[in-house]
Amino acid sequence: MLNERMIGLGSAPNAIRSLFAYGIKRKAEIGEDKVFDYSIGNPSVPAPQQVTECIKRLMDEDPVALHSYTPSPGMLEARQAVANHIQREFGVAADPAQVYLTHGAAAALAICLSAVACPGDEVIVPTPYFTEYKTWIEQAGAHIVEVPCQVPSFQLDVEAIEAAITPKTAAIIVDSPNNPVGAIYSRENLEALAAALSRKEAEFGTKIYLIADEPYRAITYGDEVPYIPCIYPRTLVCYSFSKTLSLPGERLGYIYVSNLMDNVEETTFAIQGAGRSLGYICCSALFQRVLIECIDLPSDVEAYRVNREILTQGLSKIGYEYVEPQGAFYLWVKALEDDDLAFAQRAKEHELLVCPSSGFGGKGYVRMSYCIARETIENSMPALQELWDSYHQD
Ligand code: PLP
Repeated sequence: MLNERMIGLGSAPNAIRSLFAYGIKRKAEIGEDKVFDYSIGNPSVPAPQQVTECIKRLMDEDPVALHSYTPSPGMLEARQAVANHIQREFGVAADPAQVYLTHGAAAALAICLSAVACPGDEVIVPTPYFTEYKTWIEQAGAHIVEVPCQVPSFQLDVEAIEAAITPKTAAIIVDSPNNPVGAIYSRENLEALAAALSRKEAEFGTKIYLIADEPYRAITYGDEVPYIPCIYPRTLVCYSFSKTLSLPGERLGYIYVSNLMDNVEETTFAIQGAGRSLGYICCSALFQRVLIECIDLPSDVEAYRVNREILTQGLSKIGYEYVEPQGAFYLWVKALEDDDLAFAQRAKEHELLVCPSSGFGGKGYVRMSYCIARETIENSMPALQELWDSYHQD
């Protein structure tokens, strides 16, 4: 017997991927430049030149050693490089033993959720949220508990989160800078959350993990992104080089188990056990070596900053409302009708591919990924105007 849940997941690709696939097909039909594809978060900035040079150099090394398995959590030198980076950037004395290298943030999250949640547990997710969280939470046998963020700031609604915590709450996922909204949670907001989690841990005698999903940490436009392990000790950081070094197809990231939590050793074992159980061991040996050399390279956010300006100014001029993004490369735009699915469908008729907010557990908005060519944004303005006009004809 096949697993019904897996058939369901496999036969219903997520909203973003479906739109992305439609975009590929549509571009082949009418031409690349006629489709304004704001669907997916594939970085438009190339990976740094140093990454390319490092790979070329590695190709001259002994292929047997180069392509061999590494230890399951990754090479010690690579985990040490991550620990050193954390120490340098955030002043936290990280130990390589608490670092687990992963196949991107996706694997990091799936591992963390399997490690901390038992069947029947609950995991709190502030909405709107990255679509795949629900899949990974349910894979762990747990239930998603959605708690809307404050509108219009899209900061965490700590009071509502505290009210949603039960003795079954195993974790909360916090994604800042946020996909899909672009919000960065302020220090004050995170401190209030930490206090609420600690209060509930004390009240219920449970352990509540904060899973900090941080693939966009380095993609910001000026605001501080507080380091959550310094605010809440029971934190698991899920990091990725997909966006910050433009390496999404190489599948490279890590989990850092904060050494400030009281049960760090046991939690690290659980992470290693979950990685083993899910088959996420020994991520790319080649890219572990790239990480050793390239972990400190800065992210090139300039192109995204320019895109953000062009898109927001263009939309404002037409009359659209949106949430000013503080980080990442997504814009959360108010749909011109309550039904975001209908709005996204109407946008499609103007060759504008935007993701409806329902796919992110939100209502009445669409997400536009502006990690695309600058000309595409500029050339999409007449279509955005036509879309607007189609709602304002009388
Ligand atoms: N978390 C968020 C918020 C994301 O936006 C993404 C990818 O878009 C992921 C996790 C997964 O990223 P990765 O490519 O590192 O697996």
